Amino acid sequence: MMTNYHCHSHYCDGTLGLEDYIVAAINKGMQAIGFSGHSPVPFASVWNMPALRLNDYLSEIDTLRQKYAPRISVLKSLEVDFIDGIMGPYSQWVRDAKLDYVIGSVHYTRPMPDGTPWSIDDHLGVFLEGVRLVYDNDIKSAVMHYFDLQRRMIVDQTPDIIGHLDKIKMHNRHRPLFDESATWYRDELRHLLQCVADKGTIVEINTKSFCGNGLLFPGEDLFDWLRELKIPVVINSDSHHPNHLTDGFEHVAALLLKHHIHEVACVMPHSRNFISIHDWLNHSTL
Ligand SMILES: [Zn+2]
Ligand SMILES: [Zn+2]
Repeated sequence: MMTNYHCHSHYCDGTLGLEDYIVAAINKGMQAIGFSGHSPVPFASVWNMPALRLNDYLSEIDTLRQKYAPRISVLKSLEVDFIDGIMGPYSQWVRDAKLDYVIGSVHYTRPMPDGTPWSIDDHLGVFLEGVRLVYDNDIKSAVMHYFDLQRRMIVDQTPDIIGHLDKIKMHNRHRPLFDESATWYRDELRHLLQCVADKGTIVEINTKSFCGNGLLFPGEDLFDWLRELKIPVVINSDSHHPNHLTDGFEHVAALLLKHHIHEVACVMPHSRNFISIHDWLNHSTL
């Protein structure tokens, strides 16, 4: 009975409405679907939810949760940006939203010199321009800052799930910008995972870029550490269209089992339990 706790609808930069995702999830035999629209941010953004839409988003999920309660568990969340000194998963307005769980993600590290927000999750050209202007063309400095922000988010504003924790590597697929096997990089990841383990946060295995680029966030290279540190995991597709709800799920499940991770977390409002990956895969019609 598969689950997916990371979905984006038309309320932010996703395609189609909440109900379209729920119907697709039921047709796939899924047990739970969690909506995690990109949180509003205090500046113009093409992919974050406008603050004026937040109440409609929350109340529509409540309505659909009731409507589909016998058939699927519908959960209410946001992918909340951690922005240094500005907002994060523990911001008052996030707590007031009474979400079932929170995904915490770092996209915006530091603005451009002219104050324009800069995201690590933008196109390669924008990414490189930010590294040049914000970090004096020092990619190592940009990567280390990204991981430092995630550690601070986890320690100070612990989210229930940490979103795509090594997404900073995504542009390496175009051309190698840094060596993912370098000691400094592995040390950053290990330090981050130790913080995650200390706080008991769930790590998602994010499959958004799997079908197109073969990338997972985090990648298989971290799976042994996840097991050793006893970090709970979920498999999320970060889908922006109902057709992508379970992209890469069977592949990731097999990879987790290969690394002797046998359970995934089932997220419920303010709690969790665990299900074996074999059971998680069963009864689904992909
Ligand atoms: Zn994200
Ligand atoms: Zn997302």
